[in-house]
Amino acid sequence: MSITLAPAAPDLDATHDPALRCWVAGAEGHADFPIQNLPFGIFTPPGESTPRGGVAIGDSILDLSAALRAGLFSGSAEMAARAAAGETLNAFLALGAAPRRALRARLSAILAEGSPDRKRAEPCLHAAADCAMHLPARIGDYTDFYVGIHHATHVGRVFRPDNPLLPNYKYVPIGYHGRASSLRVSGTPVRRPRGQIKGPDDAAPRFAPCERLDYELELGVWIGTGNRLGEPVPIARAAEHVAGYGLLNDWSARDIQAWEYQPLGPFLAKNFASTLSAWVVTPEALAPFRVPQPARPEGDPAPLPYLLDAADQRAGAFDLDLEVLISTPAMREGGLAPHRLALSNTRHMYWTVAQMVAHHTSGGCDLNPGDLLGSGTLSAPEAGGFGSLLESTRGGREPVALPSGETRRFLEDGDEIILRARAAREGAAPVGFGECRARILPAAPAP
Ligand code: CA
Repeated sequence: MSITLAPAAPDLDATHDPALRCWVAGAEGHADFPIQNLPFGIFTPPGESTPRGGVAIGDSILDLSAALRAGLFSGSAEMAARAAAGETLNAFLALGAAPRRALRARLSAILAEGSPDRKRAEPCLHAAADCAMHLPARIGDYTDFYVGIHHATHVGRVFRPDNPLLPNYKYVPIGYHGRASSLRVSGTPVRRPRGQIKGPDDAAPRFAPCERLDYELELGVWIGTGNRLGEPVPIARAAEHVAGYGLLNDWSARDIQAWEYQPLGPFLAKNFASTLSAWVVTPEALAPFRVPQPARPEGDPAPLPYLLDAADQRAGAFDLDLEVLISTPAMREGGLAPHRLALSNTRHMYWTVAQMVAHHTSGGCDLNPGDLLGSGTLSAPEAGGFGSLLESTRGGREPVALPSGETRRFLEDGDEIILRARAAREGAAPVGFGECRARILPAAPAP
């Protein structure tokens, strides 16, 4: 075994070896789920009704309940597999890193080419395409941050051309408490919301279907071990409280938002639906793709001490490509592939995930296993990398052109938005997140 990864990645082991082969058909070189990834999710196999935990490998899912019955685990890996085998991953997320690593190591051994366990593991596999996916965890609380500095700048510029970022931005990891009840797993359609809409020249608002429906490209963060009320998580320990990552589309009704957001921020413009990718990609799987937090621009303040940690600055950011694609009804009828609207990257986060966790708890707020944090929209600085239509179309003024000859200012009924993430670097096996996908349904009849 030879591992030739950057010295900045101290947490690498045999499970990351890019030379590792897998006996599962289709796993070799799989874009999202090679043997070096091993993300966890909740699925229902065909013909069954009880959701249970599984591991994505290539185009298959390893059923953890079946693998436990087959006697494939022992010790702390068995304990972790039992926690991950239930109807939600909450108990597994709560375990922390050591059992999660033990299970990862054992899964890697089971699935590796030449494994003596192959015969017992093969019957535990299902074709992923035949299975129904569910949200990975029971999400008690959901908080959406705003750490994509280019998004914050682009949006702020609409209102304050000379001074787009508010003075708190470079001191406070800005966020708001979102709505957990309307989070849905990838594939669930999203109904266009109705709401109060008031154009700039209208004397009064009307109640109507949203006309400025938008997506937001975000990184989702799964909280693992929680903290007690009144006991903040220090920045140096914050990364330990994160159990995984996913993709989040924070659907946004821009017209409803514009009228309702002052003075308390987003409300109904953001609570009608948010879409999550189905698989929890572990911190271990992303270890090869850790990078230093990008240096702050000259003249920016240093983070306050409670948000500053040398190790976090050294390796607390990620290098993940993030992609937004659209597929319209006309494109599907014409046999056209989904069209890329944006390519961005997680390096555009002004604050690290550890800083988000440390700040969130700094006043004493408790986080619980299965809580979800959103990064906020992650836009690149330049066109082609904008994580929302609000930015790409400059508030709806400049429509984007699609290969079908259509244009879009905002989303229309039948449009489907697909988010993807991909991590790749020299000397590591590339991994992805699976899709975060949903189609827009027409507004329901007026109540
Ligand atoms: Ca958002």
